[in-house]
Amino acid sequence: MAFEGLAERLQATFDKMKGRGKVSEADVKEMMREVRLALLEADVNFKVVKKFVNDVKERAVGQEVMKSLTPGQQVIKVVNEELTALMGGEQTKIATAQKSPTVVMMAGLQGAGKTTTVAKIANHLRKHNNRKPLLAAADIYRPAAIDQLETLGKQLNMPVYSLGDQASPVDIAKGAVEQAKEEHCDYVLIDTAGRLHIDENLMGELQEVKQAVQPDEILLVVDAMTGQDAVNVAESFNEQLGITGAVLTKLDGDTRGGAALSVRQVTGVPIKFAGVGEKIDELDEFHPERMASRILG
Ligand code: GDP
Repeated sequence: MAFEGLAERLQATFDKMKGRGKVSEADVKEMMREVRLALLEADVNFKVVKKFVNDVKERAVGQEVMKSLTPGQQVIKVVNEELTALMGGEQTKIATAQKSPTVVMMAGLQGAGKTTTVAKIANHLRKHNNRKPLLAAADIYRPAAIDQLETLGKQLNMPVYSLGDQASPVDIAKGAVEQAKEEHCDYVLIDTAGRLHIDENLMGELQEVKQAVQPDEILLVVDAMTGQDAVNVAESFNEQLGITGAVLTKLDGDTRGGAALSVRQVTGVPIKFAGVGEKIDELDEFHPERMASRILG
């Protein structure tokens, strides 16, 4: 990756201060400037960065950093802790309904990775949690989405519920839940339509699906490469649909993953999974502390 790590940069800043005895408030300010740049380069939304840096500064100007013999290290520690806390601290699992099947609805813009992620999560649930998922093909607008999901289902040897592209997403979602009950599947993962941009029709349709099947989990799929835009996407989906979690895809690409922090900050919902490649098994549970280290570089 082409980024210079924050650790190195802070060290360089600190080296300049050496020989001047104690760290001053001005020194902390300079270190904070480096923190700010590192976060912006990691594609964290600028408003989120501003608030974050102010919070950290308060802590840094306090005892911990100023009195430390290794202020550079200390700042990194504080930043790391704060970032981890902001992303929820602990890893958060996907929901399980008290009464089977657990209904999981996916949402997101076209190309974010919804269809792929449906299969990845299904695979994850079976492999790690011994679950029996059913996949529902309710993205009736993207021509290849239904075929894509059916192919993935075959590959996984899992049932895929489809009514073709003439049925309504609501009917497909309801039908899938019924079939899951009949076949004793304990998860229904509903792939939904995306658009290139957020529009009212899309949101209206997603709201109808939500209304019809009352999902236990609504996961927003966000492309980590979209950086700053991720904030607007997450905000709109959360306001208009209400999401319970997020999945960040394409973290295998050349991104520091600042979108993780932004998405978490604007929605308040946990990020549950990270997509790290195109293959079905390239999905990780999301770990806030690992992401904090990645964002800092
Ligand atoms: P959808 O329109 O939201 O259903 O998006 P798709 O599931 O069709 O994914 C769009 C493209 O992104 C496909 O080429 C996927 O292979 C790719 N993709 C999805 N998730 C990941 C990921 O985590 N890493 C990478 N590198 N590619 C991904």
